[in-house]
Amino acid sequence: TPSKEGKMFIKALFDYDPNEDKAIPCKEAGLSFKKGDILQIMSQDDATWWQAKHEGDANPRAGLIPSKHFQERRLALRRPEILVRPLKVSNRKSSGFRRSFRLSRKDKKTNKSMYECKKSDQYDTADVPTYEEVTPYRRQMNENYRLVVLVGPVGVGLNELKRKLLISDTQHYGVTVPHTTRPRRSQESDGVEYVFISKHLFETDVQNNKFIEYGEYKNNYYGTSIDSVRSVLAKNKVCLLDVQPHTVKHLRTLEFKPYVIFIKPPSIERLRETRKNAKIISSRDDQGAAKPFTEEDFQEMIKSAQIMESQYGHLFDKTIVNDDLTMAFSELKTTFDKLETDTHWVPVSWLH
Ligand code: 5GP
Repeated sequence: TPSKEGKMFIKALFDYDPNEDKAIPCKEAGLSFKKGDILQIMSQDDATWWQAKHEGDANPRAGLIPSKHFQERRLALRRPEILVRPLKVSNRKSSGFRRSFRLSRKDKKTNKSMYECKKSDQYDTADVPTYEEVTPYRRQMNENYRLVVLVGPVGVGLNELKRKLLISDTQHYGVTVPHTTRPRRSQESDGVEYVFISKHLFETDVQNNKFIEYGEYKNNYYGTSIDSVRSVLAKNKVCLLDVQPHTVKHLRTLEFKPYVIFIKPPSIERLRETRKNAKIISSRDDQGAAKPFTEEDFQEMIKSAQIMESQYGHLFDKTIVNDDLTMAFSELKTTFDKLETDTHWVPVSWLH
């Protein structure tokens, strides 16, 4: 269904090179594109091969791209683990194939198995990123700011960048106040460092999907609630949130219109050079116990960044390489400024 002006745009969620595609009827007629490119659909008359061109490309000639359905199907066939669980699971002891189904995956929001929700499909399309229909969006004066989600591997400098941004304009940027079940310390106030709640209430809130993420530390729960994001946005501030990338898909709603920034490490050589005297807080739960970076920390950071990129890269709106902190910060600042003034592509579903 084309948008108002009769034009339909999609964001490519995978890289495509027609020269590598054995199925395309004519390689020369294919259109190559990269993950994140915006394409204009010129024709969907054929069920298998759509005609498209790069957005803004003055050349009117369209090229062939695999249709969404075709691409989903062939990707799903290559990855049997994303095929749906048969609705009637047979009692027969599982074959190797069946064991590869991820039986316990639940959709957080509906708390139903995602596979059961999609009875007619043979695969869960959320796991087969192909294309997403998008539309230009620009924030209106009276509208809330968009939620900005920062993701990146441990040690990449995400917290430092976040802190710099916050202190650069405390009126404009805000962060969420987490919930915890641990007792309040004497110098703390409720609602400032944390919102202090009982274990019972925390568990009820978890049941009711009130948290974006939560964890346990020394027998207490800690978590970030959806309402804590709302309260930052309601103060007319830009809400900065750093979460694991797998939580992003639950935040991708009309209400939050999240803009996702991936903070990426530079090459391992540059990590060694730039982080020589720096310290790493190796995990959230290490209570700020900073230790000098080791070679393993660098390797872990690179590996973790690669995994994040390959699994969630289609959800990233912007990637910033944190080689030199000052440069990365200035790029981040420019990105934020543009976010408020420029037009960006967002999923069509956010505007209805
Ligand atoms: P403390 O009790 O000393 O304030 O914090 C204990 C640990 O809980 C810290 O390492 C802190 O980073 C972690 N923590 C604080 N807020 C959150 C949160 O919202 N989610 C999770 N998963 N951990 C948190």
